Amino acid sequence: MAVRGADETVVVVVEDDPNIARLVDMYLRRDGYRVYKAADGATGLDRIKQYRPKLVILDIGLPGDVDGIQLCRELRATSDIPIIMLTARDSEVDRIVGLELGADDYVTKPFSPGELVARIRAVLRRVDAGARAVLSPILESGEVEVDTARREVRLRGDLVQVTAREFDLLQYLVENTGRVLSRRQLLDGVWGWDWVGDERTVDVHVFQLRKKLGDALRVTTVRGVGYLLD
Ligand code: CA
Repeated sequence: MAVRGADETVVVVVEDDPNIARLVDMYLRRDGYRVYKAADGATGLDRIKQYRPKLVILDIGLPGDVDGIQLCRELRATSDIPIIMLTARDSEVDRIVGLELGADDYVTKPFSPGELVARIRAVLRRVDAGARAVLSPILESGEVEVDTARREVRLRGDLVQVTAREFDLLQYLVENTGRVLSRRQLLDGVWGWDWVGDERTVDVHVFQLRKKLGDALRVTTVRGVGYLLD
């Protein structure tokens, strides 16, 4: 049982299914989080205002006037608090993505509590990294400029279009200049959680970055290991 302390990370869980809420609650507490639950959107909003959580876990299908999608919209209108959505079906995933709700991540039911905890950690890690980046928003690597505040990449001053994942990968590489990074490290650091897919995903994204940035991206392949940015 976690000891209640001032530095405990507060999480609000908005979920109307009592079994899922209880399970999530149990796992988060075990992992040291302080959890407040709400079974509908209006209560969820109250809890969030009252406890100012570090992160919100938000079910999409909620009873009452405010469902998860509306609540997410409402939160996003005034804050960038990290949100992980819980979805019941793939069609709901389509809605989240299609609506560009600004959720930080989503997990499809049924999920393992371990997976959810890993996602939470990853999102919080990203947020912390973002907060640090505010201090020095522009990273430079030769002729490549990574503006972490605007999430823009420039090559010799010209804007280069990259996907969100390519941006995260580039930022991670630049932040770790001079270090050999294994594909696993890159997956953990960029994809951010217990990735179960193919490690070649990293290669595909590095390939895309090389295509877009050419020789200006001084990344070398370390055979059998991963990549190194000089
Ligand atoms: Ca529900």
